[in-house]
Amino acid sequence: VRVDVCGVRGSIEAPGAAFAGVGGNTSCLALAVDDGPPTLVLDAGSGIRSVTSLMGGRPFRGVILLTHLHWDHTHGLPFFAAADRVDAVVDLFLPAQGVEATELLARMLSPPQFPIRPDGLRGRWRFAALEEGRSELGGFTVTAREIPHKGGRTFGYRVEADGASLAYLPDHCPTALGGGRDGLGVVHDAALALSRDVDLLVHDAQYTAAELPERARYGHAAAPYAIELAEAAGAKGVLLFHHDPCRTDDAIGAVVAEGRASVRGALDVQPAIEGRSLRLGARVPSPATP
Ligand SMILES: [Zn+2]
Ligand SMILES: [Zn+2]
Repeated sequence: VRVDVCGVRGSIEAPGAAFAGVGGNTSCLALAVDDGPPTLVLDAGSGIRSVTSLMGGRPFRGVILLTHLHWDHTHGLPFFAAADRVDAVVDLFLPAQGVEATELLARMLSPPQFPIRPDGLRGRWRFAALEEGRSELGGFTVTAREIPHKGGRTFGYRVEADGASLAYLPDHCPTALGGGRDGLGVVHDAALALSRDVDLLVHDAQYTAAELPERARYGHAAAPYAIELAEAAGAKGVLLFHHDPCRTDDAIGAVVAEGRASVRGALDVQPAIEGRSLRLGARVPSPATP
């Protein structure tokens, strides 16, 4: 399984030289089985624009899976050029929450906020609500579980193929369930089930432990929680993701260094860096620094 890291930032894009090493685009991962083109895209932040270059001129034919509907996970959708063409075939899934999927997306994607509605995208698009549980999507086995965040139903996903596994929890507020062992939030059943023994956990690391008390109300986790969950679940590696838009490359380097120093076992701690391509299953991601 190949994972292309296309957008790593939380909340809003972060342009500028101080952010260019890690990258400034919002949440998006593109997954491919073997060396084929991506067939499963996780979230549609501004990073989804670069999935087009991964398609090598081909139309996108696969699944877009949204964790939730906040702007930083949806605003790239109408700018995904490989999916907005007559020969594209796209199934988009979002967490079921009592309103029809197309109608939910149209609240963001319709005049006067945007020139077109979801049905204005070219190609054959289908929009559907996903329930918790297991599904076969885009050539992968996907397990969806609801996790606490803020404002709208949010899913975390476990994605498996060819003996490789990845857990994706980009927006997660474990303090909503209580402080847990050290005030960072509860290591709860859904998060553990999604992350159990995965090759890679991609997790919300928006804040530092020091920032958390003041900012937990925005619905995110601190980097040390991502490491705590990864260790508790027996993950091989953790990718610190959904970086705060104010966090510079240097500051992210410091967060990662502090995280690595806290690891007791063999957990591999890496920052999510835009443009990186990771291989799962055959071997763990190679070490890198921002
Ligand atoms: Zn987000
Ligand atoms: Zn969010």
